[in-house]
Amino acid sequence: MDNREQMNIVIVGHVDHGKSTVIGRLLADTDSLPEGKLESVKEFCKKNSRPFEYAFLLDALKDEQSQGITIDTARCFFKTSKRDYIIIDAPGHIEFLKNMVTGASRAEAALLVIDAKEGIKENSKRHGHIVSMLGIKQVVVLVNKMDLVNFDKDVFNNIQAEFTEFLSKINIKPLNFIPISAFNGDNVAEKSKNTFWYEGPTVLEQLDSFINKKENYQLPFRMPVQDIYKFTEGNDDRRIVAGTILSGTIKTGDEVLFLPSQKRSTINSIEGFNVEPRDTAFADEAIGFTLTTQIYIKPGELMVKVNENQPVISSRFRVNIFWVGKAPLVKNKNYKLKIGTMKIGVKLVDILNIIDAAELNIDSFKDQVERHDVAECILETSKPIAFDPISDIEFTGRFVIVDNYEISGGGIILEGVSDSNNTL
Ligand code: GDP
Repeated sequence: MDNREQMNIVIVGHVDHGKSTVIGRLLADTDSLPEGKLESVKEFCKKNSRPFEYAFLLDALKDEQSQGITIDTARCFFKTSKRDYIIIDAPGHIEFLKNMVTGASRAEAALLVIDAKEGIKENSKRHGHIVSMLGIKQVVVLVNKMDLVNFDKDVFNNIQAEFTEFLSKINIKPLNFIPISAFNGDNVAEKSKNTFWYEGPTVLEQLDSFINKKENYQLPFRMPVQDIYKFTEGNDDRRIVAGTILSGTIKTGDEVLFLPSQKRSTINSIEGFNVEPRDTAFADEAIGFTLTTQIYIKPGELMVKVNENQPVISSRFRVNIFWVGKAPLVKNKNYKLKIGTMKIGVKLVDILNIIDAAELNIDSFKDQVERHDVAECILETSKPIAFDPISDIEFTGRFVIVDNYEISGGGIILEGVSDSNNTL
């Protein structure tokens, strides 16, 4: 198997503004369709005297997929010479919102589609809001159906000016606006002569220029301490600190720090189960360490390297939560937060925004978070904890909330927020 880079992209836009057509065109223009598929769907449309639609092509693909084992109607796959893409067509898809806010699968970039003739709709704004709330930073606006407005530069410029102003209010600074005709392929894979006035990238060039998340091992070292084992044999009083490395690499002689206790030591040896001791350990390994000094640490602490970027230590943080609890998430009630191997008391302090996943309505005035809501909130733990904002390291930036022994919500930490207990 080749080890190609993979990137998740989400595409959003008002219904009929052309999402399916953009996806269909991307699949067709990157030769990512099964052999003969495009022709057979075109043939079928002709026979039935219907105009060809890329949406039919996607439906045909989805039918085929759903006969296999994995049914996933919200994702399509295509590849360029640079990497493989998964394009997620699901702004209001509960699964998508859940995966995004629980960090299960994050989109690195978003394409927002606007119909040049119809202009900006309420849904275009709503989708912008969701993209912003989910913390997607790389956003590009595709101004589609430019053929319906004679590829008029002024129409494009007006949409660009109006939408840029709106997006800036919700903290989105789009990387680009691209004038396209998805149906005809203008500026999708090939630069179009019809938009001679446009000097930016095509959609495919734009995709390949997005920056992908780093691989686990390239990130700073993070290991939540799972357990401390004591040797009981003879007079050996060494302890082994055990856990699974979430990111980074570590070797003997590295200076380490345990957080939030701030205790410090140096790696003496790396001990695997049923493996010879060795000098280096990597992300994804379940491993144990002995230290050069005798320090007392507890399970739940986060082990990091002294000479790398440090996590945030705070008891207050801004998060996005996807709530699945039977009872709503309410202020001032005691919940448990699980992050890494740490389990700690937590309270909801404030609700900043709520999107109800079914209707995609955004509400800033609700005072509780209901089942299937996505909420931007402030949480406070009973003591400071160590974490990374999700945009830095996703593994130590996600958590679950337990209510009455049941997992009732999952989420990502956007940033630490200052407060009186804070040691930021
Ligand atoms: P979706 O609901 O956002 O997925 O929209 P579709 O991709 O199904 O497109 C809605 C309609 O717009 C379909 O009839 C498409 O053929 C049409 N359409 C999409 N892109 C273009 C385009 O670039 N030019 C024109 N003229 N029609 C388009």
